[in-house]
Amino acid sequence: PATPQRKRLISDADLASISITNPTRRLFGRSGPTKLDIAVYYALVGDFMLPHILGRPVSLVRCPTGKPQDCFFQRHPFTGMPNSVETFQSINSEGETKSYLSVEDAKGYLALAQFGVVEFHTWGTVRKQLEKADRVVFDLDPGEGITWREVVEAAVHIRGELEALDLVPFVKTSGGKGVHVVVPIAPKHNWKKVHQATSAIATRLAATAPEVFTTTMGKDKRVKRIFIDFHRNARGHTAAAPYSLRARTNLPASTPVSWGDLESIDAPEDLNYSSLPDLLVTSGDPWAEIDAFARDLPLLSEAGK
Ligand code: ATP
Ligand code: MN
Ligand code: MN
Repeated sequence: PATPQRKRLISDADLASISITNPTRRLFGRSGPTKLDIAVYYALVGDFMLPHILGRPVSLVRCPTGKPQDCFFQRHPFTGMPNSVETFQSINSEGETKSYLSVEDAKGYLALAQFGVVEFHTWGTVRKQLEKADRVVFDLDPGEGITWREVVEAAVHIRGELEALDLVPFVKTSGGKGVHVVVPIAPKHNWKKVHQATSAIATRLAATAPEVFTTTMGKDKRVKRIFIDFHRNARGHTAAAPYSLRARTNLPASTPVSWGDLESIDAPEDLNYSSLPDLLVTSGDPWAEIDAFARDLPLLSEAGK
């Protein structure tokens, strides 16, 4: 079959303007990837990744020294930040006005990748319509004793349950041990409603297989269980963006996959900064049409579970 056509969001001029300080500085030890490797990865996957981050509030993980213990999560503007990254004001959960970040074009995105940003995390909404969620995520967090194969089976089970609610779920690896089941929704409800509705859905999902799932946070409750973390859907909370690298050995990527391909993944950590760009050339973006599948989020009541 022909190589899938994709829209070019990063121009040759954008690529030609890339320059990186300390390009050979390695992350995570002597055999780890370099700053240049990270920038090249983000340049290569940009046409796939940008549709999922443009216009959304972003938080970043930066690792300025290259040591894992020095990586940190950044949700607000910072010294030396490229000026192509946009900032905007909003309130936090304490009611204080704060500045947040968003990437509005390829330049801002590439500038962050050149600057040494390792991870991109997004809100499930766009800055222009901040109070209405347009994507929710069920973050499946396996406890001790759960295998990757069991995580995959659980995700497939959850897919069926969500489809029974007339939703269209998509899936990606988290880049860690779990998966993220992401559901595009019509942007109608505020965060409080969305958090409540995803709580009720998670409770219902867990009830279909209580020996597998839990919806409570306590780590002791998670042994041999999969925690359905729906709290990513609270206002201001984030999840790793599609195609984001993760700041750990070999830089695994949070990789969108088709439901069919999910079952053929044996080791999600093999989807990483060096392997993924080539794979994408043949697979295309399995999430390319995600926004066309937005449905109304059912507002189940907790009582009706
Ligand atoms: P895993 O599969 O290992 O669970 P994950 O990305 O889902 O990978 P979680 O620990 O389940 O990891 O989720 C953590 C989420 O919380 C991240 O997606 C991120 O958006 C957010 N986060 C991470 N670090 C911080 C931090 N220091 N402060 C606030 N939020 C954070
Ligand atoms: Mn998780
Ligand atoms: Mn989690």
